[in-house]
Amino acid sequence: MKQDVIVIGAGIIGLATAERLLVQGAKVTILERNKTGQESSWAGGGILSPLFPWRYSDAVTSLTSYSVLQFPEWVSILRETSGIDPEYQISGMLILPPYDEETARRWCSMRGIKLEQRTACDIHSIYAVIADQMNKAQNCALFLPDVAQVRNPRLLRALRSRVELLGGKIIENCAVNHLKITDRHIQSVATLCGEFPADNYIVCAGAWSTKILGIHALKLDIKPVKGQMLLFKFDTPPIPAIIVQNDLYLIPRRDGHLLIGSTLEDAGFNKQTTIAARDSLLERAQIILPALEKTPIKQHWSGLRPASLENIPTIGRHPVIRNLLINSGHFRYGVTMAPASAEILVNEMTGAAQPFDTAPYQAGWDTN
Ligand SMILES: Cc1cc2nc3c(=O)[nH]c(=O)nc-3n(C[C@H](O)[C@H](O)[C@H](O)COP(=O)(O)OP(=O)(O)OC[C@H]3O[C@@H](n4cnc5c(N)ncnc54)[C@H](O)[C@@H]3O)c2cc1C
Repeated sequence: MKQDVIVIGAGIIGLATAERLLVQGAKVTILERNKTGQESSWAGGGILSPLFPWRYSDAVTSLTSYSVLQFPEWVSILRETSGIDPEYQISGMLILPPYDEETARRWCSMRGIKLEQRTACDIHSIYAVIADQMNKAQNCALFLPDVAQVRNPRLLRALRSRVELLGGKIIENCAVNHLKITDRHIQSVATLCGEFPADNYIVCAGAWSTKILGIHALKLDIKPVKGQMLLFKFDTPPIPAIIVQNDLYLIPRRDGHLLIGSTLEDAGFNKQTTIAARDSLLERAQIILPALEKTPIKQHWSGLRPASLENIPTIGRHPVIRNLLINSGHFRYGVTMAPASAEILVNEMTGAAQPFDTAPYQAGWDTN
């Protein structure tokens, strides 16, 4: 691909898109307002699956399922080329009640996804720490043994290194202010550090994407939804798998770190953490894992998810401005969706065949 491409935003989506373009031979510059990989992509939990996957549309399932299959090879290339290990591991995800078992079973069986039922007795031997909780609630839980996870900050560092090794240029502290457009064509982008002309421009600015597009966002509705997380450190992992109950999840890392998340807050671009959210997360998590009562919180942070209707991102070409593309609106699952979204976007640019129906990822513009 002999093209100059500007990618706006150096989160997981911008970096994954840039990597894919570089592999195809494009010349890529990423313009990042602050530092690389410090926003939503850094803040997330790194679970490589939707929570309660049966609650989402086929558009979400196609993208997440296809993406998840790419992770083992992708992280292995990233690890080998960058020397940074994103710590991909298949840890499984245990879903505690309440849940709709019938729907879950039907959905998994139609898609050949492994789903196991765990009784309080099974859980007592495997997940001793939550046995009491299980006995008090419904007497079983659902286990998705193939769900994997990554450590976001490491994945981002590895990806950044790979992008640079492939010849990509990342310019930090360089906020894009506006797009200079004549005759349905972007001539250049105006930034705090000068003007940048290119053949194509890709907006990957997460929760800020519609701000950059201005009136050209048409009906695109991507807005920030805050999520707060807590971090703990144990000597060894206190639970052997990701545990989910309603909107609460506990993610054990190999080295004993434990993440607890998350809130879903409509607070605009305000990233402030709150005592109320901390206490609510902690109270619910302590019921599942009483050891948290004696363990201090190591860190508390928040991130702004790029929320979109039904969690369906917009990936592809702008309906009017032909050298403008977007890869954004991944809401709760942007890490999971990153490699597949990058592939779809680059296929759109090169005219290569898509791996499945990608029309749903154009619906966000809603030009009718
Ligand atoms: C608490 C929390 C938990 C999560 N857990 C998971 C999970 O377990 N699994 C999962 O798959 N996903 C999870 N997510 C969602 C996932 O993190 C997001 O969907 C994903 O990070 C979106 O990536 P992005 O690159 O689009 O956005 P971002 O990472 O926000 O990157 C956008 C970038 O654009 C830059 N930018 C903005 N404006 C401009 C401008 N004018 N000029 C230049 N640059 C600009 C920003 O500075 C930023 O670096 C979670 C998110 C949160 C907040």
